Amino acid sequence: MKLHIFAAAVAGMAMQATAMTPTDNAFDYKVDRFADIEVLRYRVPDFENLTLQQKQLVYHLTEAALWGRDILWDQNGRYNLPIRRMLESVYTSYTGDRNDQQFKDFELYLKQLWFGNGLYHHYSMDKFTPRFSRQWLENQVKNLPAASRPADLPELLDVIFDPTLLPKKVNQAEGADLIATSAGNLYAPGLTQAEVEAYYATRKDTTEARPVMHGLNTRLGRNDKGEIVEQTYRVGGLYSPAIEKIVAELELALPFAENKKQADVITKLIEYYRTGSLRQFDDYSIAWVADTASRVDFVNGFIESYDDPLGMTGNFESIVNFKNLDASHRTEVISGNAAWFEQHSPVDPRFRKDEVKGITAKVITAAILAGDAYPATPIGINLPNSNWIRAEHGSKSVTIENITQAYDAAAHGNGFAEEFVPDTAIRSLMDRYLFITDNLHTDLHECLGHASGRLLPGVDPDALKAHGSALEEARADLFALYYLADPKLIELGLIDSPDAYKAQYYQYMLNGLMTQLMRIEPGKNVEEAHMRNRKMIAEWVLEKGSAEGVVSLDTVDGRTTLTITDYPRVRELFGELLGEVQRIKSEGDYEAGRDLMERYGVRVDPRLHKEVLDRYARLNIAPYKGFVNPVYTPVLDADGNVTDITVSYDEDYIPQMLRYSATHSAL
Ligand code: ZN
Repeated sequence: MKLHIFAAAVAGMAMQATAMTPTDNAFDYKVDRFADIEVLRYRVPDFENLTLQQKQLVYHLTEAALWGRDILWDQNGRYNLPIRRMLESVYTSYTGDRNDQQFKDFELYLKQLWFGNGLYHHYSMDKFTPRFSRQWLENQVKNLPAASRPADLPELLDVIFDPTLLPKKVNQAEGADLIATSAGNLYAPGLTQAEVEAYYATRKDTTEARPVMHGLNTRLGRNDKGEIVEQTYRVGGLYSPAIEKIVAELELALPFAENKKQADVITKLIEYYRTGSLRQFDDYSIAWVADTASRVDFVNGFIESYDDPLGMTGNFESIVNFKNLDASHRTEVISGNAAWFEQHSPVDPRFRKDEVKGITAKVITAAILAGDAYPATPIGINLPNSNWIRAEHGSKSVTIENITQAYDAAAHGNGFAEEFVPDTAIRSLMDRYLFITDNLHTDLHECLGHASGRLLPGVDPDALKAHGSALEEARADLFALYYLADPKLIELGLIDSPDAYKAQYYQYMLNGLMTQLMRIEPGKNVEEAHMRNRKMIAEWVLEKGSAEGVVSLDTVDGRTTLTITDYPRVRELFGELLGEVQRIKSEGDYEAGRDLMERYGVRVDPRLHKEVLDRYARLNIAPYKGFVNPVYTPVLDADGNVTDITVSYDEDYIPQMLRYSATHSAL
């Protein structure tokens, strides 16, 4: 599973800045801005301090990651690679005026294609619409040298310019034939959903306790006799030239493995790529979960199946990373003190756990993003996806802090804070502390909040039905909010200021009451569980707090403005609500849970909604963000031995895309 940055940062809502060192200020996170996209770069802090062996391991794993790029392009649509090659040839050989409108529209289109790893928007799944003319492109292609001119030019032009042809990468519309109407290349043209489902029905044994994930590494095609066949992604199979390159880099990485367990992981992955056996992929996944001691870690394979309308085939994806020791220390301290937090929580002692074990989530630094994790990337991953492996062997859950840090830094100065936080005193607290309090909020929510509390004997865990997940998120959020203000965090060395929590409180209330509404279409109510939870908490605290005169929403200079005058009292209110939500959960009190959610969590005030949308629109913040990668360069001595690997951050978006196409294209 991928955890996408929830809310804030992708939408540019985060106003966090890190506690920056002077050198960080010089780092330019912003790379490019076009259409609905902003491209950023991220730093890889601490890479310099890895051992040479670890750096070489990282280096070869990043190469193995980059070699998968074309696989994803082809999975995303069978015309993607020939069209990309044709357009890149036109782009690099173009000698005309680069300010010509046709050329500028063409460049915009190519930037969109690179970002989508093909002809489709990475999020909406819709085909991009070119603004330049077919005639213009045709003329450009005719000027190319014969070897760069595609034989099937009319067909490629039809695919680009005809909006009715293959319009959507993944179609999830109820009632449609999801295979026949999806343009992705995971199934051969002409296959129907009924055929595919019938095929897999014969392959799946539902009584099997430890089933492989059928279809994960295959395209379904048809043989000469018209029968359905699986074309497996493996050495000697589909995508073999790219997979051979991946395997070669994994073999180069192997001697630099940090320990036997990690060497075992790499060896098993190579075996799987050679055979295509999903049983071997399971063996690899089990070995990967067991490797918790290594500093360096990586994902490389066919992982997430969100782009398969039937959820079977995995997109190629790779993220190479190493453990962020300082930040992981933070989650270890929190988990290590789980019992103290549980015993002091403001809930009825009958609803507390007698014994509580915090969940340790690792915080990592990404060194490269590739395949389906590039340029748009998740901020967290929880793998493997196989249910029985998760149940028997566990899973690894990570947050990628250098990516969240880059989102936060780039959002700084986008005008959001000035627009929605007019009070300069609270704004400077937010500037200073929000990055750390946001991370602590996530840690407390994940490591303790969800793990806290217990049901009374005999209570059905599903008693809260449709409101269960929003109430569960509320419980975890309230636990985190309550403890963010606790002196225990200072005692544990997790934070250094007794005022820092105020930044998080203000942001949380502001988001729940107002700013999260920007993601709701006009006329709609709040549906999504996390959003309902935040709205419920914020509206409940506003109602109680405004009766006491400690929290208010007022109109100041024509703008709705949040004011909090008594933060310790707000903390007590969070505590009271935590007690009530825990009671609802522990007793399975469906009616009370439903009333709480429906009264505070669902309905949107249309006037405030419109105001938020209007104010947000004026800020012109890109709805989607992604990243360019750093560049790793081996340093050689006179005898050709690697003495170091350096990392640099000066490559821009277009040069990086063109370079990858030139140096890491095997298909
Ligand atoms: Zn949660």
